[in-house]
Amino acid sequence: MSLIEEAQSQFGLTLTPEQANQFDIYARELADWNTRMNLTAITEPDEVRVRHFLDSLSVVAVMGFDNGDKAVDVGTGAGFPGLPLAIAFPDIHVTLIDATAKKITFLEHIVAECGLTNVQTVHARAEDAGHDSAHRGQYDVVVARAVARLPSLLEYMLPLAKVGGFCIAMKGDSASEELEDSKRALFVLGGEAKPIADVPFPQIDRTHYLVTIEKTQKTPKPYPRKAGTPTRKPIG
Ligand code: SAM
Repeated sequence: MSLIEEAQSQFGLTLTPEQANQFDIYARELADWNTRMNLTAITEPDEVRVRHFLDSLSVVAVMGFDNGDKAVDVGTGAGFPGLPLAIAFPDIHVTLIDATAKKITFLEHIVAECGLTNVQTVHARAEDAGHDSAHRGQYDVVVARAVARLPSLLEYMLPLAKVGGFCIAMKGDSASEELEDSKRALFVLGGEAKPIADVPFPQIDRTHYLVTIEKTQKTPKPYPRKAGTPTRKPIG
């Protein structure tokens, strides 16, 4: 099946041929740049389609986007899940944050090649972005995949969300255990967990899990703590 067909059948998402073309450009450039820098272990076209593109788009299983919504992807790496969401939803604003400069250079190249006008890239650590008034408390939706265990990740994500906004952490089999370990972090940072959603990927015989947290209270000023502390000493 093509990306257009799978996005429609798995997530009810309609992609235009122009958007499918943007995904093709992204896949081609990812494979090309990956020969010169270590961006991803996944470059084979079928795998990129499922494990990067469709997996990123699976966020729609728990989150509807309204025009003008502001989303941020923390630890985006080569752009997942934020960049596929920016392609699929041209009427939302997507900020891509990563601590590694070369990843930002790659992302800027993709944004230019695909002609995207709804993406901002930010070279920063989440712990610093979380204290910058341009980002703290600014986002309707905060997403992240493969960045840190949930108790640490929530300290990166929740400060960036508006009260009433949502954080969506894309997780594997350890989702419930990580959420169980995050009770104290949720209480301290001002979040409330929703039921974990299962997302089946029959193409790769796997189920992925989306952990959704609503931001219910302002995050206290000391959080996030200084760079490195959330992973070294998770709240708990
Ligand atoms: N989210 C992408 C994905 O799923 O393909 C990339 C995952 S990669 C394993 C983790 C990324 O998170 C790296 O690009 C790294 O630079 C970034 N990262 C880790 N800790 C971070 C932090 N505290 N602030 C910003 N970026 C961070």
